[in-house]
Amino acid sequence: MGKLTNIKPRLSSVAPRLKSPPKIVEPFYSSPEWRKLVAQIKRQRGAFCQRCGSTDRIIADHIIERKDGGADLDPSNIELLCHAHHQAKTAKARARRARGQTP
Ligand SMILES: [Zn+2]
Repeated sequence: MGKLTNIKPRLSSVAPRLKSPPKIVEPFYSSPEWRKLVAQIKRQRGAFCQRCGSTDRIIADHIIERKDGGADLDPSNIELLCHAHHQAKTAKARARRARGQTP
């Protein structure tokens, strides 16, 4: 009885994807902690952009981005943004980082 014959390789019921996704989504953003916090913030503040009041594709965004050292799950570091404002903010932060600056 040296072999573990009871264990059958049945775990691969989901076919592995060979194509790599075009965008790497950080696992953090699919974590239950994050989702829960976002739902809570939307309930408390209302699901609209905190800058313009739009309700277009509201995204919870870190004011100080995580890669810049911002707190992950601190509501005071999270801002609800519409699609347009989120794009603008992300582009700005990226440009700033490219210049080697941190907020
Ligand atoms: Zn907006």
